[in-house]
Amino acid sequence: MTQDIRSRLENALGKPIDDICPNRFHDHNANHCAHFVSHMMGLDFSFNCREYKGGSQQPANIRVHEVFKQCPKVGQWSDRPTTDGPLLVFVTRTNNVDIHTKTMGNIPQKHIGVFYKRAYLSLFQLQGNGSQMGT
Ligand SMILES: [Zn+2]
Repeated sequence: MTQDIRSRLENALGKPIDDICPNRFHDHNANHCAHFVSHMMGLDFSFNCREYKGGSQQPANIRVHEVFKQCPKVGQWSDRPTTDGPLLVFVTRTNNVDIHTKTMGNIPQKHIGVFYKRAYLSLFQLQGNGSQMGT
């Protein structure tokens, strides 16, 4: 999986969520950062897009704090391992996360992306009239 994450991210560039998600979670007004990262990384645990909107294809988790909880290891950005990655990057308020208990609150002010080969490649953001992958 780590060998082809870069090509998967590059192939997703500029595409709307409709082209990323094979299930039915295509709401352009929703935040898709965890949904997008989970489709790219193969993170299919609950709560996922198939449970949320239906469909029959490969699901992807849709909640940042749930992805954070499933990480085998978490820590401060300054303590990250020296690797080409991929690493998941989480951004939230300091008081919304507890590294030691590996918990993150479910507040709107949080974000997730993929750090790979020293570049942050998967900032998923709203562009124009729909959700698209950007860098
Ligand atoms: Zn999906």
